Amino acid sequence: MGKTINEWASDVYNLACEKGWHSDRDLPLAKDRLGSFFMNLHCEISEAWEAFRDGKLMGPCDKADAMIAAGLHPLNCLEEELADVVIRVFDMAKAFNIDIERAIEIKHAYNKTRSYRHGGKLA
Ligand SMILES: [Mg+2]
Repeated sequence: MGKTINEWASDVYNLACEKGWHSDRDLPLAKDRLGSFFMNLHCEISEAWEAFRDGKLMGPCDKADAMIAAGLHPLNCLEEELADVVIRVFDMAKAFNIDIERAIEIKHAYNKTRSYRHGGKLA
């Protein structure tokens, strides 16, 4: 059996700590710290958008050669940036002690109760 979502969140967070990204992890939920998490998450979406604008969304990501050299299957830009978004969400969830698996379950269950297109929204 694979990892649970919360196990993934812990692994992602622990790797970020190991790689030096959370030296401020003992600080309270400071506005600046929260801002960094949100901006990094936003950057991953922007990277996907820029790849689309350049016509490279389904082309090899900029780390494809390094992935191959590491013995990994190379990702296209969309795959890489979607993975980055999920990784950033998991990291942030763990950093702020959010049970992301429970949150997803509850929000998904709530979404099932919503009306078609949430009452007529266009997008
Ligand atoms: Mg990225």
